[in-house]
Amino acid sequence: MAKGRFQTGNKWRFGPDWPGQRCGAKTRKGTPCQRPAYKRNGRCSLHGGRSTGPKTEDGLARLTAARTTHGKYTKDKRAAAKRYAEQGRQMRAELAELEAWFVDHGHLDKKWRDWFK
Ligand SMILES: [Zn+2]
Repeated sequence: MAKGRFQTGNKWRFGPDWPGQRCGAKTRKGTPCQRPAYKRNGRCSLHGGRSTGPKTEDGLARLTAARTTHGKYTKDKRAAAKRYAEQGRQMRAELAELEAWFVDHGHLDKKWRDWFK
């Protein structure tokens, strides 16, 4: 750290003489809030001036792009994985039915799985 560059005892730059717009919300003390207001709605970050997030399509797309790491778990990918899993379950169930039929009709030994050990 550049020790000499910092001075102690400096006033906050939004001190009592600051000419800008104040938040003005009623505090728990009953006095108007003195924090600097955002231009958007005239309140500070403690009194309703915080961001509520992007609203436009473009802004949401930028947010998505910024938050996406590799895209393996997007909504579409997860839905596709669920579909594939369901297809696999159905196929295995059909195969089990076929196996039961073959075993019932004497085409397969019940211990046929032991052949592949
Ligand atoms: Zn405030």
